[in-house]
Formats: sequence, C-alpha cells, structure tokens
Amino acid sequence: MMEKKVGFSLGYFLIAFLALLIIQNYFLSRTVAQLSYSEFKVLVKERLINDLEIRQDTIEGKFVKGAIERITALRGADSKEKRITPEMTTFYVVRMEDGDLVRELTAEGIRFNALQEATWLRALLSWVVPVVLFVGLWFFLMKRMGAAGGGLMAVGKSKAKIYVEGETKVTFDDVAGVEEAEDELKEVIEFLRNPQKFQSLGGKIPKGILLVGPPGTGKTMLARAVAGEAKVAFLSISGSDFVEMFVGVGAARVRDLFAQAEKMAPCIIFIDEIDALGRARGISPVAGMDEKEQTLTQLLTEMDGFDTKKGVIIMAATNRPEILDPALLRPGRFDRHVVVDRPDLKGREEIFRVHAKKVKISDDVDMKVLASMTPGMAGADIANVVNEAALLAVRKSKNDVAMKEFEEAIERVVAGLEKRTRVISPKERERVAFHEMGHAIVASMLSGTDPVRRVSIIPRGIAALGYTLQLPTEDRFLLTRSEMLDRMTVLLGGKAAEELVFGEASTGAKNDLERATDMATAMVKSYGMSERLGPVSYDRARPRFLDVQLGGQPKEYSEYTAKEIDDEVHGILRAALQRSSGILGAHKEQLERISRILLEREVIDGDELKSLLDRP
Ligand code: ADP
Ligand code: MG
Ligand code: ZN
Repeated sequence: MMEKKVGFSLGYFLIAFLALLIIQNYFLSRTVAQLSYSEFKVLVKERLINDLEIRQDTIEGKFVKGAIERITALRGADSKEKRITPEMTTFYVVRMEDGDLVRELTAEGIRFNALQEATWLRALLSWVVPVVLFVGLWFFLMKRMGAAGGGLMAVGKSKAKIYVEGETKVTFDDVAGVEEAEDELKEVIEFLRNPQKFQSLGGKIPKGILLVGPPGTGKTMLARAVAGEAKVAFLSISGSDFVEMFVGVGAARVRDLFAQAEKMAPCIIFIDEIDALGRARGISPVAGMDEKEQTLTQLLTEMDGFDTKKGVIIMAATNRPEILDPALLRPGRFDRHVVVDRPDLKGREEIFRVHAKKVKISDDVDMKVLASMTPGMAGADIANVVNEAALLAVRKSKNDVAMKEFEEAIERVVAGLEKRTRVISPKERERVAFHEMGHAIVASMLSGTDPVRRVSIIPRGIAALGYTLQLPTEDRFLLTRSEMLDRMTVLLGGKAAEELVFGEASTGAKNDLERATDMATAMVKSYGMSERLGPVSYDRARPRFLDVQLGGQPKEYSEYTAKEIDDEVHGILRAALQRSSGILGAHKEQLERISRILLEREVIDGDELKSLLDRP
C-alpha cells in the first residue's frame, strides 16, 4: 500500500501562471498592433496616428481612420508579420534613437506626451515579485514537508516509498522451478511463524539473506512468497528509491524503515535491487555519491544494531552481487546467500504450468515440449510467452490457447531476447555443452582437483554461458604444485574440448584463460614453483595509493628476468593445455556421448556424471 501524495504540486501552479500570461498576451495582441519603426514613420508623415505616449523604450498611440488600410498596403499580401485587423485601434512600437521625431510630430500637428515609467511599477516587477514568489515557494515546500512528518527535520519520515503489505498472498506454489532456493528459505519461514519457539529450541537464524540471480528469475516474487508462507507483514523498498535529491533523506528513510519493522514484527524487510545503493564504496569523484554512501552506512548501522530475536528478517535481492560493497556481505549482515538460478527443463515445465493456470489452454498443448523449446529463459520470460500466446489467441478470436499460438509467442519472445543477447543459438549451445563437458571430464580424471558437483549449460549471469561446479571436499589453505597444475589443466579443458571436437576454440574460454594465466603467473612469480627461475619471489606487495595503482607496478627485476618469467608462464600453460587435450583425446567417446546427454538435459549432477563415465 502506498501513501497518497499531497494533491497540490508546484507544477500546477506554474502551468496556471503560464496560461495566464499566454491568455493576456493573446487578448492584447488582438487589439494592439505592433508596428515597425519605419511603418510608424510613414504613419507620422501621413498623419494617420494621434495621441502618442512616448516612454523610455516604447511609443504607444491611437490609429486615425485609414491607418489600418495604409499599413496593410505597406506590408503587402505575403507579409510575415502579425496580421493587422480592423478591430485594432491602438499600436505600439519599440522606440529608436530619432532626434528629429519631436520636430516632425510638431510639424504634422500630432498630439504627443512624454511619460515617465512608474518607478514603483518597475521596482515591483524587478524585485518585489521575485521575492514574493521565492518566499511563497519556501512556505509551500515547508508545508509539504510538514504534512509528511512535522517540520524540516522529518523529511525522511516520508513513507511514500516504503510499501507495506499486511499479507502478500503469494505462496511457494506460485514460484516454480526454484526448489533449491525454497528449501533454503524454509527455515526462515519456520522462524517467522514462531520466533519464540524457534529461539527456545536453540535455532540460530541469519539476520540478512541475499537473493542472487539473473533478472526475471523470481527473486522479488520469492521474497514475497516467504512473507506469504509465514503469514507475516512485508515491508519493501527498492534500492533505486534511495537515490534522493536531499542529502540525508536516504539515511532517514532507512532509519524509518527499521523503526516501522520493529513495530510490525514478526515481519520481513525486503530491499530490492540493493546494488543501486550498495555499490562498493570508493573515492567518489562526484559529490552526489556521498548521499548513497550515507544511506549505505545507515543501513549497515541499522543491521548491526538489530536484534533478530524481535522476529524481523532482512532480505535483499540483486542480479549483480559482484559490485556490492564487501561490508554488506560480512557476517551479521547479508551473510546468507540464496542463488535463484534460471530454471532447468523441469523447472520451466513447472513455471509453464503455473502461468498456464491463468489462461484457457487447448488440449494439444504439451508443457514438456514448451519447456524444451525455451532453453535459457527465466521465469519472467515464460510468463511473457504465456501472456503473448493468450493475446494471439484473442486476436484470432479463438476460445482457447493452442500449441500454435505458443510456438508463435516463443518465437516473438526469443526475438526480443536475442536483441539483448541472452538466448543462445542451438549451435552455440552445442559448443557450450562440449566445452563444459571438457572441464568436467578432465576434472574427473585428475586426482588433484575437487570433485565435479554439477555441469550445466543453463546460462548464468551476464557472461557465463554454462558452468561446471566443483566443490571442495575439505577447506583448503595450501595447494601443492601438482594440484595447481591439475587445476590449470581443468581450466583449459574447455578450450581443449572445443579444439578437439570443432577444430578450433572460441571466445568462450576467455575467463578460463585468465584464471589459468593468473595461476601460472603466481606459480612462477610468487610461489617459486618454477625450476628455471628457482625459489625466488618476484612479487612483492607494494603499498598502493588509495588502492589505485598509478602507472603500473614498479618491477624489482631485470628485463631479462621479465622475459624468463613470461617464457616460463607460457611453457606451463602450454603443457597444461596439451595434457588436457591428451586426456580428452583418450576419452573422446565419453566426451561425445555425455555432451549429447548434457545438451538434452541441460544439467548433469556429479553422481550421474560418474556413472555415465563408468559405463563402457
Ligand atoms: P526478479 O525479481 O528476479 O527480477 P520477479 O520476481 O520480479 O523477478 O519476476 C517477474 C515475474 O516473472 C513474476 O511476477 C512472475 O510472473 C514471473 N516469474 C519469474 N520467476 C518465476 C518463477 N520461478 N515461477 C513463476 N513465475 C515466475
Ligand atoms: Mg525484482
Ligand atoms: Zn570454461
């Protein structure tokens, strides 16, 4: 629910003022003719005007019979000037330097009179009006602020943008295909339903939960569903709303948000798109950045001072976790991360089912087929497909939505997504499948690497088209030389697989190469793991100026050594790639076979991969 804004706004006032000016101008221009000075002189010579009032800058006066006709004749038919109409009885002209004028007027016997500009009027126009307007505006603003809270100090009390929902009515049934995330959130719901009981049983509850995932995967929806499932109030605010023009408003609003939440507990505070406000702080080049920083600092302070016992859970969502300020992710703040990923085949089928409930579906529609037609789509895209299909059916005046409409709708949505380069072509998908399977098979064959937990070709984030997830079996602080070599070999497995199967690599291995190169460089420069260069560290940490490196790091070794290091890094990487190619060459059958399965299923988990590899 959103509080209503004060009805009267400055905009209306300005519009009314302008309208008045225009109307006044219009009526004046209907009765007063504007003349050029040359026309005026002609009229003087021919005595077609009289009763002149000469002021400092203008001359006004009355027309004599025949003046209108004369001016019309002077101007000609195609004059660009404003038309002279018979109703016009007076004129005005901008005065020019003309020493003979008085003599000429006297000679023609035209009455004239010099007028002094009323000084009080001038004064009024030049400064009294602006001052009055300014003061008026000031009072107006003060009043508005007062209406929102009570004086200037309560600016932040303006609750206009904190949305409070007593009951969201969204449940987990509405959010499909994100079971893993739901499982992780079940505990939170349990806690919100009965905070006291949970506490007495000794449950420890996280303070802040960060939902991380690509746009449109249902993060906002999931947060509301948690509130709906727990039947608690839902207070939400969007990170981008904190970007305010008055310094201090954002911080005040955060304070207000937490104060409200405390009163409404148990409840959920949800900060959507937290990246807008939680960007990593740095040396801000623009003064305006300070406002965001203040808001962020206030948020951190509130979170630290908040006691979970009161039954308030703070949730936030972002699709760009990498740009968040590390302070936000520290323990006691948003330390629990729930990944909301794009749905897999089964997930998409479920999402289709959820959204299809809202429209009348024909019998020929097969959700499984629809799901297989929409790889890489997020929940919002699928909702869009269903909506589009329904619209198409309406346009064709059908009374239900058939497969044909769905197919057409998918084409449309895909075309829209392709512009944003998010949907990958079948050819690219094939390449991604082989690439990822390359990593996975190499990892499975080497002992010094972490076991493969999952291989996926569901696009993740902005850059990654697929991923191979390896989870360590134990916490590691040390890596041996051979373990590092093994890891590099796995990193290059994607590139090796592409070369083996397609004859050449693609740009998809960029990140792999970067990581492998970093590792090889570290081996040579920092860990003394290269035989050729020996146990020397060429990588001494240098104090940096405010974390900004100016003009590169000064070297502590000769050009000759620099070349040696480069050669050695090259050698290590080349050897790793060769090793990778060797492993994949020896297991080409598995690579081909399991990549095809991956292409079909999109996700293969670790145990499955093991059994698929073992099959003769
Ligand atoms: P996000 O916050 O991750 O960008 P939203 O929660 O705003 O995504 O989702 C936008 C819309 O897309 C939702 O209102 C819903 O209709 C649809 N949607 C997204 N994900 C799902 C899902 N997992 N299940 C059902 N509908 C979904
Ligand atoms: Mg959202
Ligand atoms: Zn890769």
